[in-house]
Parts: sequence; C-alpha cells; structure tokens
Amino acid sequence: MARPGRKRPGEPGISTLGVHGGGEELRVGDPVVPPIVQSATFLWGSPDDDGELRYSRYGNNPNQAQVGRKLAALEGTEEAVVLSSGMSATAMTVMALTRTGEHIVASEHLYGTTKALLAEELPRRGIEVTFVDADNPREWRRALRPTTRLVFLEAPTNPTLRVFDPRPVAAMAHEAGLVLAMDATFASPVNLRPAALGVDVVIHSATKYLAGHSDVIAGVVASTRGVVKEVTRAMRLYGPAPDPMACWLLDRGLRTLDVRVRRQNENALTLARWLEGRPEVERVLYPGLESHPDHAVAAELMEGFGGMLSFVLAGGGEAADRFMAGLELMLVAPSLGGVETLVSQPRYTSHVGVSRADRERMGIPDGFVRVSVGVEDVEDLRADVEQALGPTRRP
Ligand SMILES: *Cc1c(COP(=O)(O)O)cnc(C)c1O
Repeated sequence: MARPGRKRPGEPGISTLGVHGGGEELRVGDPVVPPIVQSATFLWGSPDDDGELRYSRYGNNPNQAQVGRKLAALEGTEEAVVLSSGMSATAMTVMALTRTGEHIVASEHLYGTTKALLAEELPRRGIEVTFVDADNPREWRRALRPTTRLVFLEAPTNPTLRVFDPRPVAAMAHEAGLVLAMDATFASPVNLRPAALGVDVVIHSATKYLAGHSDVIAGVVASTRGVVKEVTRAMRLYGPAPDPMACWLLDRGLRTLDVRVRRQNENALTLARWLEGRPEVERVLYPGLESHPDHAVAAELMEGFGGMLSFVLAGGGEAADRFMAGLELMLVAPSLGGVETLVSQPRYTSHVGVSRADRERMGIPDGFVRVSVGVEDVEDLRADVEQALGPTRRP
C-alpha cells in the first residue's frame, strides 16, 4: 500500500519534480539551466507597466521565485519561500504567525538553536512557549491556552532520530483552530511529505539535504498562499532574503535530491545493520532498524529511513574520541545532509551546554556518535568505520 502522502497516479514523482518542478515553459534558444540573476534591483518603468516592484530582498528575484516554486511542488504545498538560513525560516514563521502576549506549544525535542530561540529569545519579546513530550498527545492538549496560536514539531530529531507522527498533533491543532509547523530537515521530501499528513507549515534548513553539498546556507517555508505571504512580509521587514547565487545552488542541488537521498538511505541502512553486529557498539539508533523505538511509525510514514544514523560505543567518551581520531575517509564536522559523510559527537556540538546527567536522561551518553551518511561507496565507508573501531577496543 502507498504510504500516506506519497504520489498519486498521474502526479510527477519526486525525482521528476526535483529536476523540472516549478519550471517555466522553455522556448527555442532558452538556456536549459536558469541563469543566475545577480541583480539587486530591476527596471520598473511607469505605473502603467505590470506593477510589481522587484527587489532581491522582496523574494521576487527570478532565482528566488523559481526555486520557491520547485520546493512547493516537492512539498505538495500551494507556495514556498526561500530564506537566508534554516533559522531565518523558523524565526520568520514565528514572527509571521504570533504576536506579543500569545503562546506557542512546542515539542521538547528540537534542534539546539530552535530551542534557544523558543526558550530564551521569544519570552524576552513577550511570546511564551510551553515544551511538551512529543510522544504524549495528552501533554500537547494540556499545554494549550486561550492565547496559543502555533504548535511546533520537529522530526526526525537530532541526534536520537525519534520519528513522531504529526497526524495526531495536526488533528489536535486543527480542532483548536491552531497552525501546526514542522521542521522536517532530517527527512527531506524524499523521505517524508508532512503537508500530506496534515502539517500546515513545512520548514527546512535547505543547507542540509535539499542543497545537499555543504556549500550553501538557506532555509525554506512551504505552506498555503496566505502563510507564505505573511512569512514573505516578515522577510521583507527583517531582511533575511537569500542571495540569488544561494538560490541557484539550492536549485542545482534539488536536481539530484532524490538520487542522493536514496543512496544515503541505502548506505545508512547497510551501515546501521553492520554496526548492530559489532561488539564495540552498545546501541545503534536508526529508524530503519526494528530495534528503534519509532520503527513502526517510520515504516508507515517514511519512504526510506533517512541518511542520519547514531550509535553508542561501549567504551564511552574515550572510545568515541579514539574512533573519531582514527577515521580516514569520514570527516569530523558538524552539520549534515551533504554528499560527504560527516561524523560528530553531540557532547561537543549540539549538546555542548548540557550536563552529562541531563544528556544521559536524553539518551545521549558519552560515547554517542552521530553520522550523516554520504553517497560514497558503502564498502569504503564500512571499511573506514571498521578500522577506526579498532582502537576503541583498547582498555
Ligand atoms: C541545521 C538545522 C537548522 C538550522 O538551519 P541553518 O540553515 O543552519 O540556519 C534547523 N533545524 C534543523 C533540524 C537543522 O538540522
């Protein structure tokens, strides 16, 4: 049976949309690849001309508009707007949809900077946020107030790769007349299409899988025409518009989104299964493994289980340090979603400010290693992991 949100007969598939989605009809002599329109402003003329004022902070530069249309096609939403980063996508969504005195209910499992924005920055501006255990529908409901406007979810989560079902959260939000926004960066539209599951506002750090080459910072908000208009208005006021070159790179990345992510999914599943059989490894976290707490939800909702994989080394923090130092092919770096495999330890990166005891409670003990699996040959990746695991056995 088709997964919820998958393509219906007659609709172009994700690969086709990644190449052609949102494109305009070409005439003989037109370039096959949209040129980079590296211009801040555009001739206006007179009030009698077609009236739209074009300016590259407004989001109506041709590169911004073209990649926005492609992303809307990929997400299955009416419209999408590209912004200068994933964080500006989230921040402008909040600015567009809430005001001082209003309230947000958010999952406690959030990307570190999103958590800081919601927990520290917004309250200073008079917007209150309640964090809930995303696993517990009753907690979501209990957190609602008369002033609640926005519900915020993220999945899969960093770094334990929890996959929360957005459908019950969407049902609760809609019953209360609220908007559900979801950061689906770790999935990409290849693995998950949140709009088809009831999510009103889909947010991505396009820096990751969408652009896919670790060479651009960008974000996207995909939603209804009305919400995208409001987010675009916030972008015009606060200013985080993307550069035309960044939009062009994002479009270039999207052309191979499906083939990249499929390969990353295959590589990640192969490595996850192999790691599960290794004595140096205490635990492997990958939604595609039956041992993962959310395997059933992931199998129902996702097509492919993503390119992110985490594991815990039996030897703890020292073993993880030795493992990282021993890697020859995989690169030790934060961020994710690029064609190259990147490895990090959350205790040094996303969770550097969190105490060891709190990290343990969150399921991120010392020895926890996160891998953004790339598109390299999986045998080379496996061999690198195997040789780097060697030193972790030392007492
Ligand atoms: C990276 C990331 C962000 C922030 O994106 P930037 O492009 O770095 O601003 C937000 N959410 C998630 C889940 C991310 O991985």
